[in-house]
Amino acid sequence: MARRCRRLEGEVARGALARAEALLFDCDGVLWRGEAAVPGAAEALARLEARGRRLCYVTNNSSRTREAYAEKLRRLGFPAAAPRQVFGSAHCAARYLSRALPPGGAAYVLGGAALGAELDAAGVPHLGAGPAPAPGHALFGARAPLEPAVRAVLVGYDEHFSYGKLCLALRYLLREDCLLLGTNRDHRLPLEGGSAVPGTGCLVKAVETAAEREAVIIGKPSRYMFDCVVSEFNIDPARTIMVGDRLDTDILMGNNCGLTTLLTLTGVTTLKEVEDHMASDCPERQNLVPDYYVDSIADLLPALQD
Ligand SMILES: [Mg+2]
Repeated sequence: MARRCRRLEGEVARGALARAEALLFDCDGVLWRGEAAVPGAAEALARLEARGRRLCYVTNNSSRTREAYAEKLRRLGFPAAAPRQVFGSAHCAARYLSRALPPGGAAYVLGGAALGAELDAAGVPHLGAGPAPAPGHALFGARAPLEPAVRAVLVGYDEHFSYGKLCLALRYLLREDCLLLGTNRDHRLPLEGGSAVPGTGCLVKAVETAAEREAVIIGKPSRYMFDCVVSEFNIDPARTIMVGDRLDTDILMGNNCGLTTLLTLTGVTTLKEVEDHMASDCPERQNLVPDYYVDSIADLLPALQD
């Protein structure tokens, strides 16, 4: 059946928000852009929370810990959030590895300090996060001794990514019992003024290409991230709204998990893209169509008035 996306307003908005028990929010492009909160977003969330709605934050960004997200929410004036309400791909990857690694197993990490901190918090032994041990020697990875305990390679956002690290990752992955895990596949991170920087997906692709394997992906649109939310808060998918600004991550995950999906136009997606998907006969494209859209989540404010 063709999916149809309509603007969430008036009685429809009041009804949808009255039925919802929980709302999951993507962060970048929905709650804020960089360090600037989306105007009215904090008030909308405060009203939702005052009405007893469970609020959770789901983000593919692996460069911050749960605590850092909770602190950013506080700093930008959003309702106080506990770290356990935040599901970032760093935390969720650590959670996955804490269950998937064999006893005594460790992870080789391409990522930064936040990824290392989340692995520590989950009790996952790891090495590699941060700058390479011998920067400047591109081939260190081809010669360095391997750590025999490594049973997984985890690829996240890594500003110290290098050929040497790629060499090490491949050498670990030549063992068939070594897992390959990626935090997310976002291929670009949009910047102001139409500019962009390469996203973690580029690094995951590089490791997959070298290893000739496909990574297990933790972040949206993978349902693992939603499973993490359910295991923590036992929310009912039929009474949960996923709010996001990206069709191929936020909305696709929400649709795949049976959630109500709401697109905000404050981030990377235009209404024209939604209309093009709606007009398509292709089932994969239909799956990218949200149930509803708003220009901004501040548009929910009238429906949350007493
Ligand atoms: Mg976003």
